[in-house]
Parts: sequence; C-alpha cells; structure tokens
Amino acid sequence: MIRSTVAQVDLGALQSNFLAITEFLKTASIVDGTRPPHPSAGATLGTPPCAPGIIAVVKANAYGHGAPRVALALQEAGATMLACADIEEAIVLRNAGVTEEILVFGALGVSDLAGVFEYHLTPTISTPSAGRALNAAAGSRKKRLRYHLKIDTGMNRLGLRYDNLARTLPELLDSPYLEVAGVYTHFATANDPEDVLFAEQRERFEYVLNQLLPAGFNLRPKLRHAANSAAMLRDARVWFDLVRPGLLLYGVIPPPLHTTIQLRPVMSLKSRVVSVKGVRPGEIVGYGGHWKAARPSRIATVPAGYADGLDMRLAGPGHVLVRGRRAPIIGSVCMDMIMVDITGLQADTGDEVVIIGEQDGERMDVREIAAVIGTSPYEVLCRIGTRIERIYD
Ligand SMILES: *Cc1c(COP(=O)(O)O)cnc(C)c1O
Repeated sequence: MIRSTVAQVDLGALQSNFLAITEFLKTASIVDGTRPPHPSAGATLGTPPCAPGIIAVVKANAYGHGAPRVALALQEAGATMLACADIEEAIVLRNAGVTEEILVFGALGVSDLAGVFEYHLTPTISTPSAGRALNAAAGSRKKRLRYHLKIDTGMNRLGLRYDNLARTLPELLDSPYLEVAGVYTHFATANDPEDVLFAEQRERFEYVLNQLLPAGFNLRPKLRHAANSAAMLRDARVWFDLVRPGLLLYGVIPPPLHTTIQLRPVMSLKSRVVSVKGVRPGEIVGYGGHWKAARPSRIATVPAGYADGLDMRLAGPGHVLVRGRRAPIIGSVCMDMIMVDITGLQADTGDEVVIIGEQDGERMDVREIAAVIGTSPYEVLCRIGTRIERIYD
C-alpha cells in the first residue's frame, strides 16, 4: 500500500552532485593560488595544495531525503566522512550500514554518551563540560577517544570562544583519554556576500590555527574545516582540509548565491488529483472562505497538507504543477489536503500533481517555494513530513 503523495529521491542525482562538487574542488584547487598550503604537511609556499575532502552532511534525516539511503549513496560516491546533528542520528546511520567515519556536530554536555563508544562515532567538543563528560566516559571504558574541537569565531552558538582559548583549552588538552583529530568553526553569514563578519571569522580561525594552537599549545591539527555550502562557493581560502556541504549535495544552491557547478535537484514531491468539482461565481473554497470564485471555476483537491510539510502561507501565492502548467493553491492549506484552481486546464481526477520537481518541462523548485513564503529552502526540505514515503531511484 502506498499513498498518492510520495517523495521521489534521485540517488543518481545525489551522487552526480557529489562528483560535480569533487571536480569543482579539484579544478579550483589547481587554478586558485589563494589556498594556503597545509601547515602540518610540511608543504612549502608555492606547493599546489590538493583538493579538500568532503564531509557529507546528512543531519535531519538527510535534509528530509531519508538519511539511511542517502548516507550509503554518499559513502559509495566517496565522501571522506559523514556528519549529523546528534548521537541518535549517527546510530541510525550505523544501523543502515554506514562504515565511514561519522562526525557528530551537536553539543554533548547533557547527552547519553554510550553510543559514541558503541557505534564508533567522532564527537565534537564545543564546551568544557562536554570535554569533561567525554573524558570521564572514555576513562571508564579505558579507551582513547578522537574528537573534533569546535572553535566559536563569532557565530556565538557552539564552540570554545576563539579569544578565550588560553583559559578553556589547557584542561581539555590535558584530558588523558581525549585526542584532537580535527579543529573546525562555522560561519554565521556565509550566504550574505555583503556581510563583513565572514572575513573576520576566517581571519580569527586562521589566527587560531596558524599562531595560537602551534605556538601556545604545540598543536597542529591535521584536519581543519570551516565551510558549509555557501562558504565553499564563496571563498577557496576557507576550504582547508575538508569542506562540509549539505544543501549543495541535495542540488539546491543556498540563496542568494549562484554557481557554475552542475547540480541536479534530488527531491521531487508528487501527488495526484483525488477530486475535481465545479464552483459557481461567488462561492467560496476551503476553511475561512478566503478564496471566492470570480468566474465559473474547476477546483482540484490534492491529498497533501500542512501535516505533510506544506506551509499554510502557500495558499494564495503558491503553485503546483498540473498537466505541465502552474496552478495556484487557493483557499487554505488544510492538515491533509490542498485545493488547486485548475480552471482552463484539461485536468482530471488521477492526474499527477507536482509540488516540488519537474513536469513536462516546467519546474517548481525548492528555492522558489521558499521565496514565496519567506523562508529558506532548508526549512522547506526538512519539513517534508514523516507520513510521506520516500521512494528511491
Ligand atoms: C548544517 C551544517 C553544515 C552544512 O550546511 P549547508 O548550508 O547545508 O551546506 C555544515 N556545518 C555545520 C556545522 C552544520 O551544522
């Protein structure tokens, strides 16, 4: 049994996006002389730096695409590492058969840490208390634990403050059961080309890596990373040893940026017309009577609503594709249904409705939907509901 509304996830497109990003990183690494050589590799200035590896970000059920299948496809495509938000998400990946290293982004100060050891995860330490908890947990198991250290360079969310490391780092680096495998930061404004904080964060991170850690702590981390999708597109100087794209892998460019990388959208959300009726001029459609027919109209009902992740603000400005044409979503988005004005289209019960994706050469993409309701494509993808089956091809 399968419902009419399904999410089709194109794993071929996902792997093709991964490879396109890999090629982009390779080519640009050769032509772009701005990439600093790796300080710990003994590289001398002028040595062409090699392309960074890719940490494929599959948090939040792989941005709504279904983490198990997406993670396996990215592992197969050659991801250096996978990353997710918390231990629970990482366990889902391991149970799906992921054998690649998994980095957990979240703060672990109040988490049950057993999974880190049982499932061989790489935790992030972003607070002194998480460091103490992980050191104690590793000590009680007589194990040495590799972790990535998160530096807060100005986002003020997670991480040890870049300007307070003299106070916070000694205890962490003295923890007998902990070993720094990588150091990273995260940008607050990478998708805003006007904002100056991006460059400030880069400079602070470079200072920490190139001066503070080697001189103050004799620490030259082998793995340094900073770039999400937007930062990766914007500035090769923040690629370091690994980049951390999420959204780009799914074929969506973070607005308002653009790229020449050939990306294909991975997600399509499709349904069917389950009912068609005529309404007379002056009659209303839907809760609240927010839409009133100005002419004799044909209205299609489609079985997908806000419980499936369709934002209520789509009623009015939003569209779906029917018979290769844009048909407006009218009235109100209900829990399980939307109504669509198909007046003038030769549409009928059983016809395919495309909410996200392509139909007969017309496209409804996630960026456009997000723009219509004033949110981000991240939110549109993540909200696609749990009741919708993901079909992989
Ligand atoms: C989500 C996330 C990413 C990926 O972000 P995109 O904008 O989807 O590329 C990278 N790094 C961290 C720490 C994240 O939380």
